[in-house]
Amino acid sequence: MNASQVSGIGMTSQRTRSRLVQWLMDEGVQNQNVLKIMEETPRHLFIDEGLSHRAYENTALPIGDGQTISQPYTVARMTEILLETGSCDKVLEIGTGCGYQTAVLAKTCKTVFSVERIRNLHIKARKTLANLNLHNIQLLFADGFNGWQQNAPFDAIIVTAAPAQIPEKLLLQMADGGRMIIPVGTQEAEQELYLVERQGDKFRKTFVEKVKFVPLVGGVAR
Ligand code: SAH
Repeated sequence: MNASQVSGIGMTSQRTRSRLVQWLMDEGVQNQNVLKIMEETPRHLFIDEGLSHRAYENTALPIGDGQTISQPYTVARMTEILLETGSCDKVLEIGTGCGYQTAVLAKTCKTVFSVERIRNLHIKARKTLANLNLHNIQLLFADGFNGWQQNAPFDAIIVTAAPAQIPEKLLLQMADGGRMIIPVGTQEAEQELYLVERQGDKFRKTFVEKVKFVPLVGGVAR
């Protein structure tokens, strides 16, 4: 990777990225820190070169193994909600995928832990994130239904694939005052994005908006 690829010259130009940020603002994303990070993060480096001309469109795109890179709007919105509801020093992400959401979080959180169940994607994400010189990230190849107990509790948990119900183990790995943002629902139906806030032993669940994610699948795929 050379300097012009990282800075994003050409079809992934500054103008194209600014357009994306304008669109995010039109859709209601307001957090200036998040908008700046979305503008700076080279989304084209997280997808196959053949698709890089579409990197700054607000769409999910295939990343191999039947998975997708999340829509920029969804990434921005989930990040904004976590940042605006409390501390984000220690964050757990379930579903690394290509690592795009991981990179966005790493630019504003102290440490990001991210778990992926498909080995291939886990390895590819590690390379991409290392190339971007992001060093406050720890990646794990495992079933995210189990969270990452050794590093719990987490100030914030972000789940980027949808389970049918909120996994109990993830609730238990939230810090007191911690938040979790998670899509819930089956693949066929429309899913609902929830913010869960923990106060002691109480968990308050707030509906955010309708969303569409790939399913959270149990077990690992080598
Ligand atoms: N965060 C990614 C989204 C990737 S799509 C982004 O920024 O674009 C969701 C990812 O969740 C897929 O890579 C999928 O393999 C992964 N996933 C699904 N079930 C999982 C599980 N139980 N544990 C860990 N990862 C899981």
